[in-house]
Amino acid sequence: MNVLFLASEVAPYSKTGGLADVAHALPDALGRLGHQVRVITPRYGDLQAPSLGPSSEPLTLHFPFGDVTGQLFEGPPQGSFRTSFIHQPEFFGNRLGVYGDAHGGFGDNHLRFGYFAMAALAFMQAEGFWPDVVHLNDWQAGLAAVALRRGFHGTPLADARCVLTLHNVAYQGNFPKHTMSELGLPWELFTPEGLAHHDELSFLKAGVVFADALVAVSPTFSREIQTDDGGHGLGGLFQACAPKLTGILNGVDTDAWDPAVDPLLPARFSVDALEGKAVCAQALRHAYGLPDAPEAPLFGVLGRMADQKGVELIQAVLPGLVDRGAQVVVLGTGERRYQDGYRALMARFPGRVSVRIGFDEGLAHLLEAGSDFFLMPSRFEPCGLNQMYSLLYGTVPVVRRVGGLADTVVDLDGPDGNGVVFDDFSADALWRACERALRLWADPARLREVRARGMRQDFGWARAARAYEAVYRG
Ligand code: ADP
Repeated sequence: MNVLFLASEVAPYSKTGGLADVAHALPDALGRLGHQVRVITPRYGDLQAPSLGPSSEPLTLHFPFGDVTGQLFEGPPQGSFRTSFIHQPEFFGNRLGVYGDAHGGFGDNHLRFGYFAMAALAFMQAEGFWPDVVHLNDWQAGLAAVALRRGFHGTPLADARCVLTLHNVAYQGNFPKHTMSELGLPWELFTPEGLAHHDELSFLKAGVVFADALVAVSPTFSREIQTDDGGHGLGGLFQACAPKLTGILNGVDTDAWDPAVDPLLPARFSVDALEGKAVCAQALRHAYGLPDAPEAPLFGVLGRMADQKGVELIQAVLPGLVDRGAQVVVLGTGERRYQDGYRALMARFPGRVSVRIGFDEGLAHLLEAGSDFFLMPSRFEPCGLNQMYSLLYGTVPVVRRVGGLADTVVDLDGPDGNGVVFDDFSADALWRACERALRLWADPARLREVRARGMRQDFGWARAARAYEAVYRG
């Protein structure tokens, strides 16, 4: 099949979260199954792709807010699929950041991603690449579903099946309704059954309503989004869409995340040869300026510092962990209040708690490899990748039973246990889970078993790619 895949971030070129990893690994896995996959993404100013050249003629789209001219760029072929970058300096190239900068989200995101969604289709039409499936991801690509159904009558694009993957429904791309006019969207679509959500234009809703099939990034998440809380205001809509909604757990890109071959680690290891993990732990403590104390359990925290991730719970239990002899390393970027909280804890517990604010791929790998436990007490978690990386890297995850965390981590009370799982979103519940982790630490034989079960798990993308194939066929 010909597949056109639209994603606002694609690893390794641009990344703020898990979507970027998926937008690389899933097209790759589909390519290996023999499909022709074209990935289209914006060419941001800070894109990590040095040697790109033009691969199309410039193309001008006419919007009521003005004409926008863009061009496709590509690099040398890589892997089993093609990635094209939309070069449009005003919207993407002439600034740093994917969705925003230190001052917050960009004020013209409705135009940037409205353009992105529509331009991707227009470029394919100009080129004569006729997809059997147009695969959209999250709100940034949502308007392509509308454009596909309303703007390409009489062309082969109109026959393409439209699939939307929901990586996170808390971000919905809701904008003031005059955006309808700016982008030239027909007002008859601005209804509660259509694109309107609380009298605003919702890019996500546009995708949900107009797509032929919806995929949530884990089975549990596909059920949670049909509730008021889990749907972030769209629960009723997802319930109504249940017949076209499925859950497919993301995989792990094992080319990038496999402790046996990971080039970003100072030493490699596997379930049968764990010595390298101790080397990674030493390097991790060194990188964080912590004393070398292999007898102390080392807790790792990695990810966006956002409300979703339960940062306040982590910060609440850190003093207790330190009191019990643990060390803690943190890597992440995000909200100022959370950064400040971590900085205060680092100042209070020198040599015990160490925090790095920033985005650092190499350090992320080292943290997954060198930690003994990994804390992920998310409020909600569509799929989550870090807990899967932890399992594969022999780092026991401590997670809340929610979304993809519930689908991947099995509590160590059961025979197949690979981690510690708790239910309530509260510091108390996380603390009790941490106490269970500390008891596991005190029982090396059991720790070895639990660790080995995680490391033997198969999270490869082949399974997910075949499940997507079935959705593509309809
Ligand atoms: P989300 O998509 O909600 O941010 P996921 O766990 O699904 O969370 O994916 C996050 C991805 O981003 C993982 O690959 C993780 O390793 C990476 N990541 C997050 N924060 C950082 C950081 N500060 N430095 C390096 N990698 C990070």
